[in-house]
Amino acid sequence: MAKLHLNGLVKAFGASEVIKRVDLDIKDGEFVVFVGPSGCGKSTLLRMIAGLEEITAGEIFIGDARMNDVAPSKRGVAMVFQSYALYPHMSVYNNMAFGLKQAGLPRDEIDRRVRAAASVLHIAEYLQRMPRALSGGQRQRVAIGRAIVREPQVFLFDEPLSNLDAALRVQTRLEIARLHERLRTTMIYVTHDQVEAMTLADKIVVLRAGQIEQTGSPLTLYEKPQNKFVAQFIGSPKMNFFATADIQDSAPQHLRDIMGEDVELGIRPEHLHRCDRQQAIIAAGMERVEHLGEYALVHLTTEGGTELVAKMQQPPQAQKGDLLHFNADRQFCHLFDKTSGTSLSA
Ligand code: ADP
Ligand code: MG
Repeated sequence: MAKLHLNGLVKAFGASEVIKRVDLDIKDGEFVVFVGPSGCGKSTLLRMIAGLEEITAGEIFIGDARMNDVAPSKRGVAMVFQSYALYPHMSVYNNMAFGLKQAGLPRDEIDRRVRAAASVLHIAEYLQRMPRALSGGQRQRVAIGRAIVREPQVFLFDEPLSNLDAALRVQTRLEIARLHERLRTTMIYVTHDQVEAMTLADKIVVLRAGQIEQTGSPLTLYEKPQNKFVAQFIGSPKMNFFATADIQDSAPQHLRDIMGEDVELGIRPEHLHRCDRQQAIIAAGMERVEHLGEYALVHLTTEGGTELVAKMQQPPQAQKGDLLHFNADRQFCHLFDKTSGTSLSA
């Protein structure tokens, strides 16, 4: 187990800087998730930590040791990729044992580690099978097993669930959470999926174009996004944004006072409540309803042309084009500077 310290990390491919001065502290035993849209630099940052990508500037410490010039195999990290890339001609057992044999570990130590990992991952009964006789989820567990047997100080996961179908993703996600509970090893996990980030992380690092937008617990990011990018990225469906022109005269005075041409109001779909016209912050015409059983997603458009979504327990008894009125509790009204996107309410 180990803490990590990233100090002013930069990565350039030729003239293009894809990681721009990243500073980050990760505690011993912490589960940290790097999340952000495709191409923002998540894999590059992870590969820099693993030693698979040269560092252009800055420093990486694992524990108290500076890792910049340390070979990947000497960093005490084990990485799990999206493509599990098992050796097709080797049994599950040999797939997991291979790296340890290469490292020259004694046979009984290898056996102990492989059986322990297989038991944790519930693949003990498949040890003699070949990869082709396993489901996608089982294969990914073997890939995770290969990392576990190395007994690393830090696990690095790069979108390990992306190749699995939806049901298996949920199940394997739970297993990774249990694995962390059990091993208490520091884990860094990369995903573009905010649900994975929210459910797995002690700490989420939101990346955008090679920079950290915000770092915090899942609830901190949900409740107190520091800018519009984070506000939109965390939460599903996305937060709605309204301009001054969308705000009704019936909106609370404090809200009307602060709104202006340079201010936007953000309200999450689950925080919009139907209300009378006299209490409304927003009025919008109904476009369509998506019934999901447990709740409905109501899509609407304001007179000013702003599209929004309301998440409602009771679908409205209304026709397309009917005007519906909504308000939201003050604590759920987020204000942003329109130009910079910076939160004015955090
Ligand atoms: P993510 O994992 O967040 O999708 P990546 O870290 O893979 O993003 O990539 C970040 C950026 O760096 C992208 O714009 C990508 O095109 C670029 N990039 C990644 N690897 C290389 C490379 N070997 N050479 C040049 N550009 C690269
Ligand atoms: Mg990637």
